Amino acid sequence: MAGKGSDSPAIGIDLGTTYSCVAVWKNKRIEIIPNDQGNRTTPSAVAFVDAELLIGDGAKNQAPMNSANTIFDAKRLIGRRFSDSKVQEDMKLWPFKVIKGLADTPKIVVTYKGQKKEFLAEEISSMILAKMKESAEVYLGKVVKNAVITVPAYFNDSQRQATKDAGTIAGLNVIRMINEPTAAAIAYGLDNTSDIVGKINVLVFDLGGGTFDVSIMTIEEGGIFEVKAVAGDTHLGGEDFDNRMVDHCVEEFKRRWNKDLTGNQRALGRLRFACEKAKRMLSCTTQTSIDLDSLHEGIDFSMKFNRAKFEELNMGSFNKCIETLETCLTDAKMKKSCVEQVILVGGSTRIPKVQHMLRDFFDDKELCKSVNPDEAVAYGAAVMAAKVSGISDKSVHDVALRDVTPLSLGVAVRGKLLSVVIPRNTSIPTSNSKYYYTTHDNQSVIPIEVYQGERSRCTDNHLLGEFSISGVPPAPKGATKVMVCFEIDINGILTVTASIISTGKMKKLVISNENGRLSKKEIEKMISDAEKYKFEDQEFKKKAKAYNALEDCIYTMKNTIKEHSVKKSVHHEILQVMKKALDETTKQLENNQAAPYAELHLKKLHLEFVCEPLFYV
Ligand code: AMP
Repeated sequence: MAGKGSDSPAIGIDLGTTYSCVAVWKNKRIEIIPNDQGNRTTPSAVAFVDAELLIGDGAKNQAPMNSANTIFDAKRLIGRRFSDSKVQEDMKLWPFKVIKGLADTPKIVVTYKGQKKEFLAEEISSMILAKMKESAEVYLGKVVKNAVITVPAYFNDSQRQATKDAGTIAGLNVIRMINEPTAAAIAYGLDNTSDIVGKINVLVFDLGGGTFDVSIMTIEEGGIFEVKAVAGDTHLGGEDFDNRMVDHCVEEFKRRWNKDLTGNQRALGRLRFACEKAKRMLSCTTQTSIDLDSLHEGIDFSMKFNRAKFEELNMGSFNKCIETLETCLTDAKMKKSCVEQVILVGGSTRIPKVQHMLRDFFDDKELCKSVNPDEAVAYGAAVMAAKVSGISDKSVHDVALRDVTPLSLGVAVRGKLLSVVIPRNTSIPTSNSKYYYTTHDNQSVIPIEVYQGERSRCTDNHLLGEFSISGVPPAPKGATKVMVCFEIDINGILTVTASIISTGKMKKLVISNENGRLSKKEIEKMISDAEKYKFEDQEFKKKAKAYNALEDCIYTMKNTIKEHSVKKSVHHEILQVMKKALDETTKQLENNQAAPYAELHLKKLHLEFVCEPLFYV
């Protein structure tokens, strides 16, 4: 952890499904850090191009041309299994390939430098995190090590663990993980200190690109944030709205031309890009159009899209948001009239219908739009980063967080039923223990399966891990007692311990690789791979720079030679030598575009030497 006044400032990163944002405490306030393009948010996309790895804007901009090797949505895959129905559904729409890896882990397949390569979602996310880290380092002029990363409140334990692993692979020390809506509430709280008298109830409605979260919390004067309840859906957001628009256009194309373009990944990629743009337009106009030249088999596609159609296509999702909100209020035991502020976070809260439905639900209450929906989460994360790293400024020092666990946690008991040890919406950090008994005579091993979720049948929930405790002394069934203790730390991460009461034997749950968690060795390998990609990328950029410099040099010299004054004052034979050298280098460049950096650099030095007399004219 960074110490007080550390030379390595701690940053806050909002690792979003579609966009990411990074912020830092600087000059006694939070600053949002722009990326190398000057943008305050960075697309969460990674593209593998012939010889180059592109992350962020560069990756997004070339996506329609290289859709099979442009990876987005890693957050929708992270911590999930390949067989997960949501993954299977998403895969149908992704232009890139996902295969089943060891232990049902999804792996993304790309072609990079002419070779097939496989990546885990953690690795893709780590590349985005590394890009955010790099932006911060450039901005601050310092090496950045420590970071607070946000996750959707509704992320389960494997999704949180996997996100933390992504941070480690990116070379970050993840000092804290906080929930996105909580971070947004911190941003609101710090910006509105004068409006908070005593205690107020706020509801954070966070609808982003891939996830939806609702949090109800109280903010106490002085900066105490207490989460009362969270609810959400880790698979509901702007991309689902885009997908429905894409489906609609595919149908329309089929109706008009009797052709199915679903097999044409490039067309789907272009269509998705155009639909997302049209969707944004529909937040400020009531009608827009989608125009794509030669979309499929040379056919141009053009269609009008109006707001009413967009709303009709997505009404199911919008209604789901309201239902989730009702669940959250019930869990918080709060009437909607007690909610004093409704804070909007996430790009998709700009959709007029969403705002309209929310206002209606809260009986015409004005929604709070004072926080920037794209930046609030990173802002809150940076406040937390400043606090954890020991910044003494009162406004961050006094911030205190009391969060809750989003989903119930428990173990499988007879009949594959879930016995809940920690119910959902329990304040964290927390721990709780329960006793269980052997289920048959002389049972020597007791299996412990840990699940997360709200369903009574274990298999309908998410299996987090399993282990067994052996060495149970022979005894009739029900005679041996085992204590199972669940402990959730401040980051929302769980440790389970089982102990046999009579012998004192104890075992801890290590969420093994079979259950989706990366081993230390694998993380180390990924860290070295990430370094390798970084090195290759730097080398590529260095070479491209040298190539361009050589080309510029040839161009300038050739033009200088053509100048009248030069022709007059430099000896004809010397000019011929120069021309020959320039023509030869031009040819070599054309024939060997893959020349290494040193060769390009030497060629430039050679030309400058040969053409030196031009500069004495
Ligand atoms: P976030 O995850 O918060 O960065 O939100 C990104 C999502 O917000 C993406 O799906 C965007 O398409 C969507 N979005 C951004 N601006 C708008 C807008 N004006 N109207 C509708 N959706 C938007």
